Amino acid sequence: MLTLYNTLTRTKEPFTPLKDVVSLYTCGPTVYNYAHIGNLRTYIFEDILKRVLLYNKCKVNHVMNITDVGHLTSDADEGEDKMEKGAAREGKTVWEIAEYYTKAFQDDIHKLHILDPDTWCKATDHIQEQIEQIQTLEKNGFTYTTSDGVYFDTSKLDDYGEIALLDKENLKAGARVDMGEKKNPTDFALWKFSKEGENRAMEWESPWNKSGYPGWHIECSAMSMKYLGEQFDIHCGGIDHISVHHTNEIAQAEGATGKKPWVQFWLHGEFLVLDKAKMAKSGENFLTLQTLVDKEYDPLVYRYFCLTAHYKQQLQFSWEALETARNGFESIKTKLLDLKENSVEGSDDVTKHEAAFLEAVNDDLNMPQALAALWAVLRDDSLSSEARVATAEQFDAVFGLGIADFGSEEIPEEITKLAEERETARKEKDWAKSDELRDTIAEKGYSIEDKKEGYILRKK
Ligand code: AMP
Ligand code: ZN
Repeated sequence: MLTLYNTLTRTKEPFTPLKDVVSLYTCGPTVYNYAHIGNLRTYIFEDILKRVLLYNKCKVNHVMNITDVGHLTSDADEGEDKMEKGAAREGKTVWEIAEYYTKAFQDDIHKLHILDPDTWCKATDHIQEQIEQIQTLEKNGFTYTTSDGVYFDTSKLDDYGEIALLDKENLKAGARVDMGEKKNPTDFALWKFSKEGENRAMEWESPWNKSGYPGWHIECSAMSMKYLGEQFDIHCGGIDHISVHHTNEIAQAEGATGKKPWVQFWLHGEFLVLDKAKMAKSGENFLTLQTLVDKEYDPLVYRYFCLTAHYKQQLQFSWEALETARNGFESIKTKLLDLKENSVEGSDDVTKHEAAFLEAVNDDLNMPQALAALWAVLRDDSLSSEARVATAEQFDAVFGLGIADFGSEEIPEEITKLAEERETARKEKDWAKSDELRDTIAEKGYSIEDKKEGYILRKK
């Protein structure tokens, strides 16, 4: 039975979907810059969740949004619009920025073997749905209007902040933030009016007589409900989303429908941290997948690195830790290639290994334990090599490491030529030349292993 840790109840609970298809919503990227590897850790965790559901033979309907508008630089509805900031930085239009970084994000997730959602939805394609949800909230008495926008009145919702265990009274007493015209410190913008004379690249007509743009939480409640229904199974994001973004999404959805709980299961991934500092989308802590590729790390080494920690544990990034992950990933590869190339007889009964693996993944996605189950099967000498390879490939439906493709990477002609030259040198017993060629091959990222009947070339 699949159990998942639900932030809503702060307990691990057995998961059963509301309907025959699991409805899953994952908060997507704000497309004003590349995703950093911290963001990507969260998408990898969500991908593991989806793959575990599929492994359990569930059908999954997965929706991910693209935030391409109105996301201000601070959680308090203040600061600059991130999209406009990105456009100014690069001398492009906001639309070009959104298109470019959406594509960059999709390229990154494909390189990491993250499965595409069934539906990608952009905030700018759903302005009408967002306006309609704000109008419903208005009708239900949850809003008020100030000179700069339409706000959600959080004092009108008894259990506002329940998921974040927010203490409203203490928040009120301790509020030192400049509240402007807000009635309560936790109130937030649903719709912002464009300022007089401000020339905004993205603004829309609204029923509030002034053009403007949506607040940054409304897109997720409006779009998830459009595609998944008024109540659905699972909603995910990073832990930073609990106290503001998800708290406010819940307020909007439950305020609009009166149905509770809006979402059955809330899952949150812990952060990737860099020397204890928060990974940020600016400054030197901004590492992208390309930064890793530039240092010759296969993106799948990063995926493997993420699998070595439970998603609810903080993960410390360092180049040393990534190097250790590369070694771990390579040793799985080497072992599998060895099993493929050297067939051994043995039993085909992998039942106990399958059970151990299922227990691990179903225990709130315990991937370190699942990797241990993979190693147990690879090392089980009572099994035939075919059974071990087949089981590893079956487990890879969850890992997503491309195990079935190991060994089939094409070796460039230049490398095979060097290997042939080395083989000739060996036959001529020219060991110095043979060693020199092995080093050249290694520098180019390939390893060569000598066998009785020849040699095996592998990408490192
Ligand atoms: P954003 O584009 O800022 O909305 O972030 C995209 C996703 O990445 C969200 O689910 C965040 O919670 C998550 N996130 C942000 N920073 C980190 C980090 N350092 N480690 C893991 N996840 C993060
Ligand atoms: Zn969201």
